[in-house]
Amino acid sequence: MTPVFVVLNAGSSSLKFQVFEARDEGQPCMVFKGLFEGLGGPAHFVVKGTDGAILDEMTWSAGDKLGHEEALMHLVTWLRQHQEDRKLVAIGHRVVHGGEAFSRPVLVDEAVLQSLETLVPLAPLHQPHNLEPIRIVRRRIPGMPQVACFDTAFHQGQSDIATMFALPREMRERGVRRYGFHGLSYDYIASVLKDYDPKLAKGRVVVAHLGNGASLCALKDGASVATTMGFSALDGLPMGTRCGALDAAVVFYMLREMKLSPEQAERMLYTKSGLLGVSGLSNDMRTLRSKAATDSDAKSAIDLFVYRIVREIGSLMAALGGIDGLVFTAGIGENDVATRAEVIAGLNWAGFALDEAANQAGGRQISSGAGPTAWIIPTNEELVIARQTQGVLGAASARIAS
Ligand code: AMP
Repeated sequence: MTPVFVVLNAGSSSLKFQVFEARDEGQPCMVFKGLFEGLGGPAHFVVKGTDGAILDEMTWSAGDKLGHEEALMHLVTWLRQHQEDRKLVAIGHRVVHGGEAFSRPVLVDEAVLQSLETLVPLAPLHQPHNLEPIRIVRRRIPGMPQVACFDTAFHQGQSDIATMFALPREMRERGVRRYGFHGLSYDYIASVLKDYDPKLAKGRVVVAHLGNGASLCALKDGASVATTMGFSALDGLPMGTRCGALDAAVVFYMLREMKLSPEQAERMLYTKSGLLGVSGLSNDMRTLRSKAATDSDAKSAIDLFVYRIVREIGSLMAALGGIDGLVFTAGIGENDVATRAEVIAGLNWAGFALDEAANQAGGRQISSGAGPTAWIIPTNEELVIARQTQGVLGAASARIAS
């Protein structure tokens, strides 16, 4: 039987999964993927092959109240029934926060899980959802090896200065520092950059992960030296619904003058701000682009997004001492021709020149001239989790387990 890993990315009402065959040599190979969405309400399950063709799907009514536990067990049963020649040998999880303790992926045991639970206050909107499936698997499939892979880990090599806030020292001792996120995505880009341009892979690169969540990372010789997200995934660029960097005094104003509770303020900053908040219309870049010609608020939301990206790239260039290349990735970075063109236009002063035809065509290299280069590289966070899971367990031990 061929051993397989399941890679899980759990959100509040969704559970995304990909299934990878373990390999003795080389990297794991994705064989199919899918998701549950609408968990807790009218849930939907879909599983697709590598060519995107739907292999199976199912819908539950709201009354069924399908939760994460039922969804996970449905997936395990589906695997057993439909993949008789494959055996599930391990589960890899995306976990947003590894804190200071976890600078690499880790095999989860009770002590690790308890340690990860102490980080919930640092990522209250993500960490509990990431940890829930780990608890469920420990209860329902005892003995199944589980590996936690962290969004923070890739940034752990940054200098002390790059991770400090100018706060009293006791705050640092409580773990209040910049961590950085989207590390699985940056890890992937750093790992494939040499296939695009070997010289650039050793140089000074800014990666723009522009999706519903958005951040930038400065890479020097493939290692993270600075990033825009900080203590939480709220910092840095404006995002789909998150505000990005904000003067902390705005929060005092919300609490003291507007009498919002901390939960109300948090909800506004995480779920009602960013592209959605400024446009008053949508967090979806496709919708905003289609309305921007006639809706000035939609236009302002896009203009602010681009302006902040360009400013923050300037800041990361200072951290790198210059720039050799810029990489666009994630939903907007990979697909939105206009955002890429506007960001590069905002960086003409730094020597970037757009190859318009290549940008329209979707890459790979979208710059021209002798200045720094610009690229589109599709990210693959799930492959990084699969690689890390295989790396922690070893393909050999996966075979023994099978
Ligand atoms: P992600 O979080 O990486 O899935 O990215 C989601 C974002 O990508 C949303 O703002 C989408 O509007 C945007 N996006 C996805 N496809 C396209 C597209 N073809 N053109 C423009 N934006 C897109």
